[in-house]
Amino acid sequence: MCRPSLCICIDDFQSMYYNISFDIAAILLLVVLAVGMRTVLYTDTPGHKLMRSYVLAVIVVAVTDIVTAYTICYGYLIPDFLNLILNTIYQYSSIVCVAVAMKTILNYYPSASKRSVIINRVLLCLLAVFVTANLFTGWMFRFENGKYIHGSIYYIAYLLSLAIVFHMLYVVLANRADRPGVISRIILLFLFLPTVFTVIQMIFGNVLLIAFGEAFSALIMLFALETPDYRKLMKAMNELEIAREEANIANRTKSDFLASMSHEIRTPINGILGMNTMILRDSSDPQIVEYAENIKIAGNGLLSIINDILDLSKIESGGMEINPANYDLFSIMNTCYQMNRMRASENGLTLTFSNDPDMPAGYYGDEVRIRQIINNIVSNGIKYTKEGSVTVRTNFIEDEAGADTGTLMILVEDTGIGIKEEDIGNLFKSFTRLEESRNRHIEGTGLGLHITKQLVDMMNGTIEVKSEYGKGSVFTVRIPQRVIDRKRMGDFAERLKDHVNVSSSETGRFKAPGRRILIVDDVKMNVLVLKGLLRGTEITIDSALSGAEAIKKTEENKYDIIFMDHLMPEMDGIEAFHKIRDDANGINRDTPVVVLTANALVGMRDTYMNEGFREYISKPVEQEELLKVAEELLGENGQRTERE
Ligand code: ADP
Repeated sequence: MCRPSLCICIDDFQSMYYNISFDIAAILLLVVLAVGMRTVLYTDTPGHKLMRSYVLAVIVVAVTDIVTAYTICYGYLIPDFLNLILNTIYQYSSIVCVAVAMKTILNYYPSASKRSVIINRVLLCLLAVFVTANLFTGWMFRFENGKYIHGSIYYIAYLLSLAIVFHMLYVVLANRADRPGVISRIILLFLFLPTVFTVIQMIFGNVLLIAFGEAFSALIMLFALETPDYRKLMKAMNELEIAREEANIANRTKSDFLASMSHEIRTPINGILGMNTMILRDSSDPQIVEYAENIKIAGNGLLSIINDILDLSKIESGGMEINPANYDLFSIMNTCYQMNRMRASENGLTLTFSNDPDMPAGYYGDEVRIRQIINNIVSNGIKYTKEGSVTVRTNFIEDEAGADTGTLMILVEDTGIGIKEEDIGNLFKSFTRLEESRNRHIEGTGLGLHITKQLVDMMNGTIEVKSEYGKGSVFTVRIPQRVIDRKRMGDFAERLKDHVNVSSSETGRFKAPGRRILIVDDVKMNVLVLKGLLRGTEITIDSALSGAEAIKKTEENKYDIIFMDHLMPEMDGIEAFHKIRDDANGINRDTPVVVLTANALVGMRDTYMNEGFREYISKPVEQEELLKVAEELLGENGQRTERE
């Protein structure tokens, strides 16, 4: 039987009583805690501040719980509406208490998603709305002639509270990697103790236990987590967090720097190589052609170093992406062959590309990166082979007969200087060159194989090296690929012969008399280069040296294509493009606009295409690519283009 001082006996009125002894115990415990936290245990960490708020909130809950226990028991003494208000205040104080508790938990899991935080707030708001609505509807509880009566859907409040608890359980479990296991377990205890006490209260009805459960969980949390050692740990973790943020900022600065560096260096190279292309095309003096060839080799070498550094920074910042699409293996092999054959023959080497003629022709994968991998290994083979040959062989091993998946094998064998057994482990490290003194005269940065390995890894493939020092090396790359076109690829060498005939006619300069294009670039040299590369096409070429001038010209003339530089002072290419396209009465609003840019960082192509540009050409501009784009877009417009 309950002692009168701790029980509110209401047998005579509602045949029930409330045992408030646990509420009183909770208040005493919490007052001691609150004083302790303000004095000896005081710190100003966010966690500690939240705990102080939580302790105060629970005191309010316990006090209002006792008050409402009295007002329910002696309901006949006070008006019903006052009783309703007092009980609603108790409900609000409970919601505030839960809100602070949830905030305390979220404070320990900073990587909890924004969505989790929003879900938590929405649930709390719903609970508050439900309690407020009860004032007018009596859904949860109401008073009639001093008697407390449950509403028809009072359980909704319990369901919402349970939803909050289970959502928080999810947050803790999903982000438990943020904290050592013991801490997550203490936080789970903090979450579940009040829930357990609530359930017990529901079973034993008249014993008010919830505030005690909350006080108890606050005590555990404070002494388990908010102790000096833990605070030191938290401080260290906060410092680490700040350091990580700073490192991220530094990394972003590096990427920005590389983007602008790349732009700054690519712009003059565009001028150099473009002008050089014209010298090579127009000069008949063998001495000058030889000089120009050397400029081309050196320029391309410089370009490949910039590309390697850019790739490395992309990989390090996690910005390198694999963009799979359908591709034709012959076209990759052919490009690699064309890019390396000159150098091989200059070095007196035989460069042979071969394949299993029965292998499928088309695959799904990242064409650009596979080409880069083959190119890196083949160009190394040529660089590090004094005499003999470099041989590339490809085949496809199906996972099982007739399957669409399998492994694309690329084998590159050279008869070069070979690699010492003990050096093979260092081969794929960044900026590592083997036998520096011996290879000093061979240009290189020590990045190629590092990048190759990273790319192969990103495609879930493998790269393996077998080498005999002084005799040669064999690099074997295996990349899982999906077959898209099962057509037989045919023999590479045979197809190459046919292709040479086709391509020589295809690259034969096309003509488009009567067509008009606009070139927009703030660097005059770039305009000259583009004009030079398009010479012979009989296209009428206008130019503008700024965005504003471009807009003026597009108001006066109708163009078939606009080639637009991106970075220009005052109005950049994107802004100028939008102005042209958004001019409702503009004669060039449907003209295809091709962005020309020295910004070759990852994802830039997608960025430009999303802006609405029709094509993307990176600088330095290759004549073949430029003509291809021009031909495609002019042909697309439905007018006649002529071939020689
Ligand atoms: P580099 O720009 O120096 O060629 P890589 O990363 O491509 O950089 O290669 C790293 C090193 O591995 C080279 O400096 C060279 O010593 C060695 N190496 C790469 N390929 C070969 C090869 N085919 N034969 C012999 N040595 C090679």
